[in-house]
Amino acid sequence: MTATRVQAIPGDVVDALRVQDDAGRTPRHTLDADGGTPLRCCLRLSRPGEELLLLSYAPLRRWAAATGADPGPYDEVGPVFVHRAPCDGYAGDGIPPELTGSPRMLRAYSADGSILRGVLADGRDLAATTAQLLSDPAVAFVHARAVDVGCFTFAIHRATSTPSVAA
Ligand SMILES: [Zn+2]
Repeated sequence: MTATRVQAIPGDVVDALRVQDDAGRTPRHTLDADGGTPLRCCLRLSRPGEELLLLSYAPLRRWAAATGADPGPYDEVGPVFVHRAPCDGYAGDGIPPELTGSPRMLRAYSADGSILRGVLADGRDLAATTAQLLSDPAVAFVHARAVDVGCFTFAIHRATSTPSVAA
């Protein structure tokens, strides 16, 4: 099975987004009274009462800048939740345990940033389905998105990919 590495939004990127998001706006502050929100900074669910920011993020943009790829119309910008204050990020490399409770849309991208295909996967099948997608040499990386609202959740690369090209 293809070895994979899960990538949250890197901490330095989240720091910059907390000031100005990828749509050029100031993030929206929210007190998450109920918890259960998937956080893209540390890939866990929020706890009740945590302070979050809702901001726009372009999951391909920094990867494209680092690699010279031109995703063109695939350079989407969409809403994500992150901690309001800096957190410890995501230290694991497998599928985040707290984010396996929901199905995900897995989007496979080519090396030029185009969408090759999408596969719907149950939360418990994410690792196997992602490894299967990445066993295709045409697939450069995979993005996991929410099924219900479509938001970017995390990226999955081959374990041999260098962190500098992480989306
Ligand atoms: Zn966090």
